[in-house]
Amino acid sequence: MTASPPRLLTPGPTPLPPEVLAALGQPIIHHRTPQFQAVLQEVADGLKGVFRTSWPVYLLAGSGTAAMEAAVANLCSRGDDALVLRAGKFGERWGELCAAYGVRVIPLDAPWGRVPSPAQVQQALRDHPSVKGVFATLCETSTGVVEDIRGYAQVVQATPAVLVVDAISGLGAEPLETEAWGVDVVVAGSQKALMLPPGLAFITASPKAWGLIERSTSPRYYLSLPLAKKVWDKEQDTPFTPAITLIVALAAALRVIRQEGLDQILERHRKNAEAIRHAAQAMGLALYAEPSCCSRAVTAVAVPPGVDGKKLVKAMRDQHGITIAGGQSELAGKIFRIASMGHIQPDDIRAAIAALERVLGDLGWTFPTGAGSKALAEVLV
Ligand SMILES: *Cc1c(COP(=O)(O)O)cnc(C)c1O
Repeated sequence: MTASPPRLLTPGPTPLPPEVLAALGQPIIHHRTPQFQAVLQEVADGLKGVFRTSWPVYLLAGSGTAAMEAAVANLCSRGDDALVLRAGKFGERWGELCAAYGVRVIPLDAPWGRVPSPAQVQQALRDHPSVKGVFATLCETSTGVVEDIRGYAQVVQATPAVLVVDAISGLGAEPLETEAWGVDVVVAGSQKALMLPPGLAFITASPKAWGLIERSTSPRYYLSLPLAKKVWDKEQDTPFTPAITLIVALAAALRVIRQEGLDQILERHRKNAEAIRHAAQAMGLALYAEPSCCSRAVTAVAVPPGVDGKKLVKAMRDQHGITIAGGQSELAGKIFRIASMGHIQPDDIRAAIAALERVLGDLGWTFPTGAGSKALAEVLV
């Protein structure tokens, strides 16, 4: 084991900046106080900046999936039709959530590593004019692809349907202009590019989406958006005990984001992911995602022939103190994923690539010595 704390290059949880760690260490305050009210106001404003919308962003205590469930439960009613874009595990999750609420799933599948095109969404909506909601994923974390949300929004906007986007790993890493692009619902979670521990989920909805929310007959209680809206509109508060400490830390994270600037942050993500791809290819590795839709938040790399992918992830962690992610479900052992989201720094990436060179060598994969680090340095100067 290495003596230094393990480096997390996983697509959630991600490392926490010192400002967030300090906020998490503060004594807890009571939530029905002017002190916490001020924090809630601050995060309400800050979240609008990150979500790129003027609509309120509602906070839920739960992991990101709580906000996905809130979207389905609040927008859809039993018997509704939903067009579900499935390009990986998280697109599939939208389908599972819809099924749980008795919503009929019309799947639009892309081979893993690729994404559905806006033209396919348009055709599917023509074939199924009854669709109430189109469910997409900004960054499909399981395969490392980014979907064309802007393109989908253009075609969905021209129909009665709403576009719902899982931006749990994408928000703060990939460009997403919620209101300007015409996206109706965005959900996110705390432990990805927002640089917080897990436990907070976020959801925002357009006036068009609120039309559906008000008509939904699905059972809702804890995740009720009409209730959250009522309490927020009346007293700028939350219906239940909020995750106080996480929200205080969120205020700190939003200050970190404001200080660096969202545009600069997105550019840093772009560059870091490009560097990882460049390094992987220099080591003779194949990228899992199609070049046209590689995510800035996480890079999926194919495990090379003859190498045991599970051993690779384990050796990175146990021998080098670097936690990366393996593949999920059918991709287990076949890919590994290196995240570049949130507070992950060039130094973390340098350490990860250096360790990867050693581990690949130990596991029998040959490539020119130092090729990964050299290629990395060409991009991350
Ligand atoms: C992490 C992730 C989720 C799941 O979030 P939880 O916080 O584990 O509930 C959903 N969608 C995407 C795209 C993710 O990356």
